[in-house]
Amino acid sequence: MKKFDVLIVGTGMGGLVCGNILSKEGYQVCMVEKNKQPGGSLQIYVRDKVIFDSGVHYIGGLDPGQNLYQIFKWLGLMDRLRLEKMDPAFDRILLEGDEKEYRIMQGYQAFEQEMIREFPLEEKGIRQYLLTIRDICDRFPLYRLRVEGSVEKKEEAMVVSAKKFIESITRDEKLRAVLAGNNMLYAGSGEETPLYIHALTVNSYMESAWRVLDGGSQIANILVQNIRAAGGMIIKNREVKKLVMEGTRVRSAILSDGSSVQADLFVSNTSPANTYRMTDSSLIRPVTRKRMETMRTTVSSFILNIVFKKDRVPYFKHNYYYHKTGKVWEMEGYTEKDWPLGYAVYLSPGAKNEYATGMTIFAYMRYEEVRPWASSFNTVSSKQIRGEAYEAFKHQKAEQLLNRVEEKFPGLRNSILRTYTSTPLTFRDYLGSDDGNLYGSVKDYQNPLGNLVSPKTRIPNLFLTGQYLNLHGILGTAISGLITSIAVTGRDDFIEKIRNA
Ligand SMILES: Cc1cc2nc3c(=O)[nH]c(=O)nc-3n(C[C@H](O)[C@H](O)[C@H](O)COP(=O)(O)OP(=O)(O)OC[C@H]3O[C@@H](n4cnc5c(N)ncnc54)[C@H](O)[C@@H]3O)c2cc1C
Repeated sequence: MKKFDVLIVGTGMGGLVCGNILSKEGYQVCMVEKNKQPGGSLQIYVRDKVIFDSGVHYIGGLDPGQNLYQIFKWLGLMDRLRLEKMDPAFDRILLEGDEKEYRIMQGYQAFEQEMIREFPLEEKGIRQYLLTIRDICDRFPLYRLRVEGSVEKKEEAMVVSAKKFIESITRDEKLRAVLAGNNMLYAGSGEETPLYIHALTVNSYMESAWRVLDGGSQIANILVQNIRAAGGMIIKNREVKKLVMEGTRVRSAILSDGSSVQADLFVSNTSPANTYRMTDSSLIRPVTRKRMETMRTTVSSFILNIVFKKDRVPYFKHNYYYHKTGKVWEMEGYTEKDWPLGYAVYLSPGAKNEYATGMTIFAYMRYEEVRPWASSFNTVSSKQIRGEAYEAFKHQKAEQLLNRVEEKFPGLRNSILRTYTSTPLTFRDYLGSDDGNLYGSVKDYQNPLGNLVSPKTRIPNLFLTGQYLNLHGILGTAISGLITSIAVTGRDDFIEKIRNA
């Protein structure tokens, strides 16, 4: 096989963005993906003709001039994606024992007005909240598609707790819960989550919120087409097993079918721990390996996908987030009995947009719950039955989750045609993590540099990309694709091109 300029391990969003940028810069790119479908968390699956997203359900920042819009435009995505702008009130927060739907609005002004309408006594705190969110976003230059910025200002923002900040701007418990209400978007934890993770995430959706019609896999497919059109190659259904060294550099990758691919440069889109397991090079010091192996990762999830009976449930263009009183920052700490302490609800549109065809209900689940079946491995390309006890476990969890959701949506069961579930094992097997974690490493405001991962490794031609690097999500990993491309090429002039695309 011919030698490539760059080999990228994995076709998640970070890897694909990096592959696209390097292709545009003239590099011959080869991407190797262990699954049949590219995209990592952008993969979809179809059941009873309904498309379900495995991960991504909505994205932000896609109005002209906004950060993801500029990146997508430069990558040739904007003209080719089928997108749907969500309702002005795109997220609705549901609180235990409260009939109201608290509406999270697109647009700072609309957000401010709506919050002040709901919480008139909290006007000052609401304004301060919004000013701070914007200020924090400004401290992260690449988020604003700029390269210059003050490291001190950025680091100052990394040591602030999201929960404590929200508590500092209002004493109103309901407003506190509402402002944190969609924190499943970043696995918010009161003990750890820094304010910048909250700010960078919520700002993106408050700028504008979108659904990718026909599933997020469209994004991956277009990015794959771009790489092929530039003369690059995508090898699917093969796992990179080993990175072979020659002196201080990686020379080739050995794939699961025994073949080998040579390249000058290597980028890994899987976790740093996984990446380092692929090489025994002494350049990766034992202390670094240990740090990566023991890095705390975000919680995993249990997903219930529902196929609706035909024309039963009117389609709406917003999501719901529910949590129990006092638990919004502690939903991960559930017990078997009180699970789930919160959930998110996303709808799948039908062709005519009048009735929903399906619904996804998402709740946290810790990996330890599925440990009894940890030795099994089941994907489309490598099928294995996990057994009756596992099926019974999933059934019981689906019932428990439905019971909780029916407290707010009575009679939902009557509209169900069939249900399908995913557990932390599904995510582990499809995404290649050890524990099916949602968003990579835990970011901790008390130890802000502890889990930071650089795109550069001690092996000069091995780089890292994806959600372990800085921020998760489609926006976060697109930015990590930019960061890795800067590290690989030693240049950042394409950032300006993206800003002006
Ligand atoms: C349930 C869920 C809901 C989410 N909802 C949203 C949302 O609504 N909006 C949003 O913006 N974000 C959402 N996210 C987060 C977002 O999807 C992720 O942060 C992002 O897609 C991760 O991209 P990544 O580049 O880190 O790669 P990943 O998606 O982690 O992909 C890594 C890829 O590498 C492959 N791979 C791993 N090891 C190997 C190997 N050895 N050889 C070959 N291939 C390998 C994997 O198969 C996979 O395809 C969600 C995530 C989950 C799990």
